[in-house]
Amino acid sequence: MKLLLLGGTSEARALAKRLHPDIDLISSLAGRVPDPALPVGPVRIGGFGGVDGLRTYLQDNEITAVVDATHPFAATITATAAQVCAGLGLPHLVLARPAWPHGDAIVVADDRQAAQTVKDLGYQRVFLTTGRSGTAAFRESDAWFLIRAVTPPDAETLPPDHEILLSRGPYGYDNELALLVDHRIDALVTKNSGGGMTRAKLDAAAALNIPVLMVDRPALPDGVTTVSTVDEAVAWLRGL
Ligand code: NAP
Repeated sequence: MKLLLLGGTSEARALAKRLHPDIDLISSLAGRVPDPALPVGPVRIGGFGGVDGLRTYLQDNEITAVVDATHPFAATITATAAQVCAGLGLPHLVLARPAWPHGDAIVVADDRQAAQTVKDLGYQRVFLTTGRSGTAAFRESDAWFLIRAVTPPDAETLPPDHEILLSRGPYGYDNELALLVDHRIDALVTKNSGGGMTRAKLDAAAALNIPVLMVDRPALPDGVTTVSTVDEAVAWLRGL
């Protein structure tokens, strides 16, 4: 077997650690963040060049299986990998960490609906945690935003009134609570990323009775085999 492991998540790093060096694998990162956390074992960095580029890469490198352990909101690479693997008849697995329960959150379909809801409900001081690509939908909003992202969003995507907080998880409960209090936040906007690294903000918001707008996950491509834990991914690979 020669495995391509599409990564950029803690689950992908955990899976690489379980497999390396027993399985011949190469991890792939998009190359979006400077100084990324690297998995053990061989790594390649950068896009493949869409459907044709990924197909060529898989063929040239004699890849025999693909595990897509990218972030649940990385919908483009997930769709590309599903399409290419189906076309080549390659075993393909999506490792998608479980979603957070919605709880009392206001569930919205996408960033645009989140921005509209902020406007409709009159929120004034919003903690926006949907990342650098999530700010554009709020560009014309009148509210004030605390924007947390790993890398700075492009200036033209920013709402007029904001503060930027550059940081990388994991985040703990006490810090999240202090952030919400200190900035007098009246609404939290988050993706339904799932996992433990960034969930403390939900607990802190709940403790302070701050409403949460939760952007729902994009749907997975039809017909893909999916597991939700690293253990299950290892078992799937053993079965090949
Ligand atoms: P995306 O929208 O699905 O992908 C955009 C393009 O980036 C893809 O078309 C592909 O370029 C390239 N790409 C994405 N993941 C790649 C990978 N693992 N290896 C090689 N190329 C990759 O993805 P995204 O939302 O921008 O996320 C980019 C990366 O950041 C992913 O690896 C993801 O796991 C990680 N990440 C994303 C989020 C999030 O909220 N979206 C959060 C944490 C981590 P080509 O078409 O040229 O191949």
